[in-house]
Amino acid sequence: MTASIRLKLLSLGAGVQSTVLALMACDGTLAGLDGAIFADTGWEPPNVYRQVDKLEVEFSRAGIPLYRVSVGNIRNDITDPESRFASVPWFIRNPDGSEGMGRRQCTSEYKLRPIGLKVRELLGAKYPDFRSVPRGNTAEQWIGFSTDEIHRVNDKQANLYTTKRYPLLDLDMSRKDCERWLRASGWGDTAKSACIGCPFHGNAAWRDLRDNHPEEWSDAVEFDRLIRKGGARGEPLRGEAFLHRSRVPLDLAPIDRVTANEWHDRQTDIFDELAEFGDPDGCSPYGCRSGEAA
Ligand code: SF4
Repeated sequence: MTASIRLKLLSLGAGVQSTVLALMACDGTLAGLDGAIFADTGWEPPNVYRQVDKLEVEFSRAGIPLYRVSVGNIRNDITDPESRFASVPWFIRNPDGSEGMGRRQCTSEYKLRPIGLKVRELLGAKYPDFRSVPRGNTAEQWIGFSTDEIHRVNDKQANLYTTKRYPLLDLDMSRKDCERWLRASGWGDTAKSACIGCPFHGNAAWRDLRDNHPEEWSDAVEFDRLIRKGGARGEPLRGEAFLHRSRVPLDLAPIDRVTANEWHDRQTDIFDELAEFGDPDGCSPYGCRSGEAA
């Protein structure tokens, strides 16, 4: 009789929190990690890929495999009529002037699905669909929610073969604690992982792209132009889609910092905070609200 497989696997987004978990696994603070899985949407900024490359070196020193998984390049899929359909939460202006949002399924499609497939493969599910995990094989999935994100802990994607673990909650670490820990460890430049043209970017992220990464900014502006009638597949939108919440073309959108007085006047409006800093829930596969109307 073969022994059951029991694995500890990190969902690596390569942002602040999961980078802390990766490095703690490599230095032995968190023991027993068997592998890390990075889901690549194909359209992350270069600094995120550099971060994953750097982490791969650390993993390799520690003898921990890093698995990069992908179902395709989200940008190509959206703009190529021959490619697959992708549903992204764009900001929509309807023909009658009312506002709406696209359905958010991209996190689930491009992150959760390939991670789930890899977990099942590692647990012994068979090619080609890796659907059935042999009875008794289990994985503990490490997820990098910090104490300020405790509201994101949920039972979605529950199944018989995985249990979720939140080591940063066990360690009582907030995002700020993680940032301090990374600075002290020489990893202070850890970037936030998200697609270059993610509609959840706040103005601060758009400004950073425009002012510090002009090629990526041009790419996002061009992409914003291309999605005006929706993705290249499926029925064209009757209204118009935009990347920026103001629902004007990205290169004309009001992304510049407001003055202190203007900011003071706007403090009571949660949407202004969202506009500046983006969706606080970001694009974690495990806190994701994919499938819900955004
Ligand atoms: S980063 Fe944004 S666009 Fe990319 S998968 Fe996540 S929610 Fe979708």
